[in-house]
Amino acid sequence: MTAHTPTDRLLRTNPGATEAVVDEFRERALPLAEQLTGKGFRDQWEALAGLGVLQVGSSEQTPEKADAPGPVTRSLAMVEGIGLAGVDPGVVYALASQVFGMQYPLRAVLPPDAWRSLAPLQDGRVLLCHALTERKGGSDPLSMDTRARRDGDGYVLDGAKTFITAAPVADLALVFARTEEKRSPFALSAFLFPVDAPGVARADAFAKTALPGVPMGELAFTGVRLSADRRIGAEGSGLAVLSSTTTWERALLLGYALGPMRRTLARLTEWAAGREHFGRRMGASHQVAARLSDMALALYRSRVLLYGMAARLDAGTPTRRLSAEAALTKISVSEDYVRLTGHATALSGVRAFIADSELPADLHSPMAALTYAGPNDLLRVGVAREFGLPVEN
Ligand SMILES: Cc1cc2nc3c(=O)[nH]c(=O)nc-3n(C[C@H](O)[C@H](O)[C@H](O)COP(=O)(O)OP(=O)(O)OC[C@H]3O[C@@H](n4cnc5c(N)ncnc54)[C@H](O)[C@@H]3O)c2cc1C
Repeated sequence: MTAHTPTDRLLRTNPGATEAVVDEFRERALPLAEQLTGKGFRDQWEALAGLGVLQVGSSEQTPEKADAPGPVTRSLAMVEGIGLAGVDPGVVYALASQVFGMQYPLRAVLPPDAWRSLAPLQDGRVLLCHALTERKGGSDPLSMDTRARRDGDGYVLDGAKTFITAAPVADLALVFARTEEKRSPFALSAFLFPVDAPGVARADAFAKTALPGVPMGELAFTGVRLSADRRIGAEGSGLAVLSSTTTWERALLLGYALGPMRRTLARLTEWAAGREHFGRRMGASHQVAARLSDMALALYRSRVLLYGMAARLDAGTPTRRLSAEAALTKISVSEDYVRLTGHATALSGVRAFIADSELPADLHSPMAALTYAGPNDLLRVGVAREFGLPVEN
């Protein structure tokens, strides 16, 4: 039986069956969170996949179980639960990235046989990375240099992708490449192939300061021969595939942050309630109390937005109709994650900067959320464009 803190009780905004999934996965991940400390990324990945976090299910709703969460909501609740158990945030981020940014969108575009052949993704035996960004930038996909040239029935791929989450350990890569020289919406195609294919080289991992629990690296392609069935969808549909993967990602990837945000709020509430300061308890200060309320507001808003997106996707709303909402959700949750971390850092004093203190702060990981899945500055431009403003990136 899960013990709920007062902040937990205040923030339980979902139907009981959804909150029960969060609690269940928190309970199941708790022993793993401890056992896995210090283990390699791949060991942690497989152990957590064993809980079923990568299973992309179908609806369990029946007339008797009308409030059962839909599959996307259930995935989000599982991710929140394992984050709440204290599993390394980098590993939870990577799980959320594969489930929401790759598995769900691939299931929507692949023919049923091709999707079935990817079954090992769902039990953690095969790991996938999303390779879009190149050295000179990530925000402008139409400027990419990686090219797939037609060669007989297939393609030959040359180029390089960098800053790719999990590239040093992935088995399969979803790679976006230019199949047309012009800067047109049909210039790109998406390919899915093994990272150990001849001509693919992995560079060493970067020393990353945000989310250090998941490695990030580079993939270089030299004359990689790909059969046509490695292409996802029609030639020229790469930008459409990309807008689906990025909409899913913007809608839900930050579900990984809900666990760390809740843990931080609970820790700081306990600290402020118990610590003696100026001859009274720290939480007796209105300013301290207001900071904690602002942290709760950031978490409350993030949770409502993320579960709202999950509900829209469970209802079958096409991703092309969700791009602005997904961008707004990503902007709001990432900025609330930064805001909550800022308040926690202020309330923790020097302890925030001491790695083995009771209140160490991770400032890099929340800040990184302002950049990945589309920098917030550029997402704001895109949202305004959807309003009809004549604004381009
Ligand atoms: C933790 C993490 C994980 C990542 N994982 C992956 C991954 O798995 N796969 C992958 O492909 N990539 C990944 N990336 C890379 C990420 O997708 C890119 O960082 C992102 O697309 C932005 O590209 P950029 O860093 O080159 O920023 P830029 O495009 O250089 O933008 C940086 C900033 O420049 C300013 N700017 C530039 N142009 C404009 C403009 N026209 N209007 C307004 N502002 C502007 C904005 O302030 C913007 O925030 C990851 C990044 C991080 C931090």
